[in-house]
Amino acid sequence: MDIMSKARRSLVMSKIRGKNTKPEMAARSILHSNGFRYALHKKELPGSPDIVFSKYKTVAFINGCFWHGHSCSLGRMPTSNSDFWYAKITQTKLRDAAAIAALKTDGWRVYVVWECSFLKDLQKLLRFLNRQRKYFSS
Ligand SMILES: [Zn+2]
Repeated sequence: MDIMSKARRSLVMSKIRGKNTKPEMAARSILHSNGFRYALHKKELPGSPDIVFSKYKTVAFINGCFWHGHSCSLGRMPTSNSDFWYAKITQTKLRDAAAIAALKTDGWRVYVVWECSFLKDLQKLLRFLNRQRKYFSS
């Protein structure tokens, strides 16, 4: 099951790699063009998730690998100023984990879309949302 056509996929990848666009913007445009509506950065929720689908009690975080300390090549710590970065990124990781735990406790479904596996993670989210939409409309 392929949600995005080849053309769309390459458009998306060029958007992600572009200078002035971020994965979050690309994710939002794909979700929107698939007919999903959402709120952004809801401050009243733990971790103020990037994208909130209230109807499906689902949130998505679109994470840059470096800032969120992902265990991939993009998430590697800089060698200079390493104490500073280690402290900063460790703090972010702890905050992320606490927010996800709190959201789950409150009954939210949480999806994380990582920069390095953007399309794969986003398709997982889209498949889930499509199932929810079918379920809600039947
Ligand atoms: Zn990564």
